[in-house]
Amino acid sequence: MNTTSPFPLIDPHVHMTSRTTDDYEAMRRAGIVAIIEPAFWMGQPRTEAGTFKDYYSHLIGFERFRSSQFGIKHYCTIGLNSKEANNEPLAEQVMELLPLYVAKEGVVGVGEIGYDDQTAAEDKYYRLQLEIAKEVNLPVQIHTPHRDKKKGTLRSMEVALEHGIDPGMVIVDHNNEETVKDVLDRGFWAAFTIYPHTKMGNERMVEIVKQYGPERIMINSAADWGISDPLAVPKTVALMLERGIPEDQVRLVSYGNALAAFGQSGQMPESDWLEAQPIDQSQKFSGSSILRGGQTPRIDEANTPTSNIIR
Ligand SMILES: [Zn+2]
Repeated sequence: MNTTSPFPLIDPHVHMTSRTTDDYEAMRRAGIVAIIEPAFWMGQPRTEAGTFKDYYSHLIGFERFRSSQFGIKHYCTIGLNSKEANNEPLAEQVMELLPLYVAKEGVVGVGEIGYDDQTAAEDKYYRLQLEIAKEVNLPVQIHTPHRDKKKGTLRSMEVALEHGIDPGMVIVDHNNEETVKDVLDRGFWAAFTIYPHTKMGNERMVEIVKQYGPERIMINSAADWGISDPLAVPKTVALMLERGIPEDQVRLVSYGNALAAFGQSGQMPESDWLEAQPIDQSQKFSGSSILRGGQTPRIDEANTPTSNIIR
C-alpha cells in the first residue's frame, strides 16, 4: 500500500520529543504538514518543577525548530498530565508555571489533561486546568484513561460541562467503539489514536468512519517512547481511501477537523504551512543546528514547493 497521502495531513497528537529525525523525514514524505505535541508524562517521574519548566520551553522552542528543519509546522498543548497530578506538592508548583506557558506562541490548547487512575488529585488538577483554559479561551485536549475508559470518558465530559466549557472547545482523545457515540452526542470532538498491534487499529477506524461519518472525528498516532507508529495517520488514510470512504470525508478526519478544532486557538492558521518558508537546514537554534560533522544542509529554493503534494 502506498502511504503517501494525495492531500496534506495533520497529526494532532504526537510526542516528537521521543522520536527521531528519520520519523520526521518519513512523516513529511507521507504528507504530514503540521503536528500537535501535547505535554505528557515522559516515563521517568519528574521530581522538580524546574524539569516541567524546561520541558514546556522545549516544546515551544527547540522541538518547534527541529520540526521546521524537516518542513513540518509544530504546535503544542501545555498542561500537567494526569499521572503526575498525583504528586501534589509538585503539581502545586507546576500550576504556577502554566499561565505563563499557555500564552506562548504556537500553543493551541491546554493538554493533555484528564484522568488516569481517576483519583481525587487528578480530579482537582483537571478542574483547575479547565479553569485556565476557560480564562485564556483555548481548546482543551483530554486524555481518557485506559482502565475504566467509558466511566473516565463520561466523567471528563461531565466535569468540563460543569465548568461551563463549550463542548466545541474540547477534543476528547483515545476514543474507541464504546465511547464514540457518547462523545459525539454531547457535541465534543472525538479523537482516535491508532496504535499498532492493538484492537483500535486502522481497520476498526475505517468501520467507525463508515458508521458515524466524518463530522467531529479526527485520527492521530500518539506516537511516543512506547510501541507506536508516527505514520499511523497516513497509513489509516490510505486504508480509508482503499476501502471506499469518499476523499472529502477522509480529508476531514485527517486534516480539516483537527484544523477546525485546534484552530480555535488562533495560533494555527493554515497559511503557516501553505505559505511556509522553504526548508533551510543551515539554520540554528541557540547556536545549534540539526547537522552533525560534515553533513550538507538541505536548503530548498524559495520557488520550489516543499513537497510533491498535489492539492
Ligand atoms: Zn499523548
